[in-house]
Amino acid sequence: AGKPNILILGAGYAGMVTAAKIFKKIDQNQANVTLISKHDYHYQTTWLHEPAAGTMHPDRTRMNIKDVIDTTKIKFIQDEVVEIKPAENKVVLKNTGSAEYDYIVTGLGAVPETFGVEGVFEHAYSKWTLNGARQIKDHIEYMFSKYNNDPEPKEADLSFAVAGAGFTGMEFIGELSERIPELSKKYDIPMNKIKMYVVEAAPTALPGFDPELVEYAMNLLENRGVEFKINTPISAVTAEGLVLKNGEEVKASTVVWATGVRGNPVIEKSGFENMRGRVKVDKDLRAPGYENVFIIGDCSLIINEETERPYPPTAQIAMQQAVTVANNLNALINNKALEEFKPEIKGTVASLGGKEAIGVIGKRKVFGTSANFMKKMIDNRYLWILGGPGLVLKKGKNPF
Ligand code: FAD
Ligand code: NAD
Repeated sequence: AGKPNILILGAGYAGMVTAAKIFKKIDQNQANVTLISKHDYHYQTTWLHEPAAGTMHPDRTRMNIKDVIDTTKIKFIQDEVVEIKPAENKVVLKNTGSAEYDYIVTGLGAVPETFGVEGVFEHAYSKWTLNGARQIKDHIEYMFSKYNNDPEPKEADLSFAVAGAGFTGMEFIGELSERIPELSKKYDIPMNKIKMYVVEAAPTALPGFDPELVEYAMNLLENRGVEFKINTPISAVTAEGLVLKNGEEVKASTVVWATGVRGNPVIEKSGFENMRGRVKVDKDLRAPGYENVFIIGDCSLIINEETERPYPPTAQIAMQQAVTVANNLNALINNKALEEFKPEIKGTVASLGGKEAIGVIGKRKVFGTSANFMKKMIDNRYLWILGGPGLVLKKGKNPF
């Protein structure tokens, strides 16, 4: 038999870190490695709230795969994965046929979860991808440019509603509330005509997070003009805006959807047992019942044994899983014992626009400029893992 073929699906945090680490763990002569992803670039999902609000150029969140992955060692195929056929050790691709594997690492990321709320895909912006972020930004700017040209301008055209006060919703409104004063000036529209809403079903914003830091974030955002509607589940989205469960409406021509995520639909299509598109993987990160299928990142589900609840899917976990997978591929190829994945949660830091952020690192709470510093260092650390100091210089963020 020839060398085994390893396929890595998806060039997100999970796939890119697997690709970056694999030949540090496996001898290059022992396997053929192929990375398959939709685009010829990698984008950083964790930065997307910035280009979406228009506070960062979208190109800063992406990099050419060929610039960070050594394509003389790892083959890259640009294509969309349609389905995995685990019984046939084969992946069906949209444009280039199929690819066979001996081992596969699936890191296809997440898609929006609507919880059955109607009208989301028709009337809201919900795609947290590079293309999705650019569309949100352009749409917001268009609403401003349109307003003074409209013979009968609608108030709702300058109302922006965010669905969900999780980390995505809060980070996005943080950026948007920084950007709005600039847009108001640029398009000669008084600030008092512009409205920003965040609507959250749970009894608090950022449910489960430190209450003091949540209060800090809410006060800051309210001072920038954001109106929160907490404890207020959304029941539908229409062309007019949000319909709330309590019967009220929030009129807004722009709705940005951020009520959570589910695993990539490829998982369901491929017949893996799943919960909302996520596979509850074994401790070694393999899909139950399959010896050669690893599933990591937002398509995987792992349980926090302390709380007996799933860990929220994060880039932090995806990157750590990638390192375990590279080790475990080496173990499989060389008949060694596989290791168990143990997440090491270092903390959570969320940006709030400008030089503001909140976070918990270990047991320490941080906010304001020191949290902002930490957040930018976390972003730079990822670039370091992927491409060393060169990538940090090229794409890194100024922490001050
Ligand atoms: P992704 O990084 O999303 O990558 C998936 C990749 O697969 C993409 O390149 C995509 O193009 C490709 N792909 C998708 N479908 C197909 C297909 N059918 N065929 C081929 N390729 C495909 N987490 C943190 O830990 N810290 C943070 O600060 C943080 N901030 C966030 C901010 C925002 C605005 C958002 C939306 C999320 C944030 N997260 C954060 C969560 C984090 O982004 C995800 O947990 C992480 O991206 C998961 O990594 P992944 O590799 O599974 O998926
Ligand atoms: P989330 O699940 O964390 O938050 C979604 C929010 O929407 C919840 O507060 C939920 O109560 C609310 N919601 C759900 N249905 C609703 C409805 N019908 N009406 C109103 N509100 C509703 O999802 P997210 O914010 O998209 O984050 C996805 C993942 O990415 C999470 O694991 C998160 O931890 C991670 N993330 C991390 C960071 C960070 O660390 N800085 C930033 C962004 C995202």
